[in-house]
Amino acid sequence: MSEGQELVIQREENRARALITKEVLAAAAQQRKLLAEYVHSQMVKGTDYGEIPGTNKPTLLKPGAEKLTDLFRCTPKFKLVKEVEDYDRNLFAYTFRVQLYQRDAGAVLAEGYGSANSREGRYRWRNSNPKCPKCGKESLFRSKNEPGFYCWAKKGGCGAKFKADDAAVKAAFDGAERVENDDVATLANTILKMAKKRALVDGAIALARVSDLFTQDVEDLQEGQRAAVSDEHTRAEEAAEEEDAKKAAGAALDNMTASQKLCAEIAGRMAKAKDAGELAAIQKGYAEKHFLREIDGVQKKWLDGIMDKQLERLGKEEPAK
Ligand SMILES: [Zn+2]
Repeated sequence: MSEGQELVIQREENRARALITKEVLAAAAQQRKLLAEYVHSQMVKGTDYGEIPGTNKPTLLKPGAEKLTDLFRCTPKFKLVKEVEDYDRNLFAYTFRVQLYQRDAGAVLAEGYGSANSREGRYRWRNSNPKCPKCGKESLFRSKNEPGFYCWAKKGGCGAKFKADDAAVKAAFDGAERVENDDVATLANTILKMAKKRALVDGAIALARVSDLFTQDVEDLQEGQRAAVSDEHTRAEEAAEEEDAKKAAGAALDNMTASQKLCAEIAGRMAKAKDAGELAAIQKGYAEKHFLREIDGVQKKWLDGIMDKQLERLGKEEPAK
């Protein structure tokens, strides 16, 4: 190792130590306070974020993510990093990366990832329409002009008409059930947009470092709550959905590069660190990895952000002496 390299590492080490001071903790806390004030004064519940009963964190929605991105004077740049369009298997999956590019600094300040796929409950299933008691097709409609029902030929039905009090028709309406959506291809664009939206929300949370204020899963939670109150939703189906979610998570992991996995692992260790000394050692470790180009500048910045948060957490747990 050359003298110059040693010097740089030494500087990084000093910086790592210098970072953990009361002043830094206070500055970070002050910045978080300002951001929390902005959130409370400028962001609208129901539009920018949602609150789901039974969860402790509000969920950041797309308009809120856009506001935060604007607040930091960033422009989102999206890239489709993974795409599956399998018409035979009715499988559509997209993963976006968003980079939040700061216009004044000319640098990427944060990154986010978002995936969506057609095996998610909301895309995979649909409610069946009532079936005609005569032909069994899902083409039974309420008549507009007179009380009663008809089986619409235009929708592939037999044209039969039924009285308003027809017991078989009533049973057909009661029997609507969750069925596999055999036409998810028409949802491909919706799924793609969802992946993009999730990436932006993920990126905005990373950018503003507000993951302790917001979570990102409003729709998923709503989905879960609907499931909980739905009689049709059997345990077996829930298990299948969970399996799908696990597979999707696995696919997301496969998409991660070695350096992303490394960062995730370092972030995990930071979250478990018990004192400032342990954090300092971790920071020294990743500063070296950055120096050796095992992780890039954006990733280092991301880790610095987590470091700030962990320092703040320790600051709350054990007040500086
Ligand atoms: Zn019919």
